[in-house]
Order: sequence, then structure tokens, then C-alpha cells
Amino acid sequence: MAGEPQADCLFCKIVAGDVPATVVRETETVVAFRDITPQAPTHVLVIPKAHYPDAASLATAEPGLAADVLRVAGEVAEQEKTIDSGYRIVFNTGSGAGQTVFHAHAHVLGGRGLAWPPG
Ligand code: 5GP
Repeated sequence: MAGEPQADCLFCKIVAGDVPATVVRETETVVAFRDITPQAPTHVLVIPKAHYPDAASLATAEPGLAADVLRVAGEVAEQEKTIDSGYRIVFNTGSGAGQTVFHAHAHVLGGRGLAWPPG
């Protein structure tokens, strides 16, 4: 059923506490933790606790939860003091765009110059 935990999902295991993660912020609906392979001084993943495979399916099924993810991404950016220098929120969607974990997540990247266009 949509939103239910998936046994083979790494991020569902992090939500359940079965896989450790460095959590930097948590609400009733969302958890934010440091990426295991950081691509910038700040690299935090913000995920809904409920399982949706990508950002668009999350926003279609539960727009309020998608808004929670975005709000917490902004709060993490503030907490990490990346507001003045700028930060980026990225949702890789589909393997061709680099998505490797099929549980919706926002990357919050900051703390260094971020080139545009991205690779
Ligand atoms: P994607 O490539 O799907 O957009 O992002 C998945 C992210 O999850 C990658 O940046 C990757 O480094 C991160 N990641 C993969 N496995 C783990 C893990 O076990 N723990 C944490 N904290 N991050 C992970």
C-alpha cells in the first residue's frame, strides 16, 4: 500500500532505526540525516518517514508531506548556516538522473560554491 514501509528499502530501514544514520533533524513525519558520501561540506538527506519512490509520487499522494520535506530542508539549511552563502535542494528522479535509492529524498547541499548547470 502507498506510504507503507518496504522491507527492501534502505531509507525505510533508517526510519525504523535498523540502519544507523547521523540524524540532524526529525519531526513526526520527516527525518533528516547526513549523506554517507558527502558531496559538499553540508550534504543532508531529508526524507518522508512514509515510503514513496520519488518526489513526484510523494507530492501527488501526499502534498502536505511533500511540503513538510521542503520546509525541513530549509530548516536544515538554516541550522547548517548555509543561508548566506546559498544552498541547493535536489531531487534526483530516475536512475538516468542519478537516483540510486528509490525512497523520496531531498539532498540539501551547501557550504561551498555550487556550479550551474549541474553535471
Ligand atoms: P540518490 O543517488 O538516490 O539521489 O541519493 C541517495 C544518496 O544516499 C546518495 O547520495 C548516497 O551517498 C546516500 N546513501 C547511500 N547509502 C547510504 C547510507 O547507508 N546512509 C546514508 N546516510 N546515506 C546513504
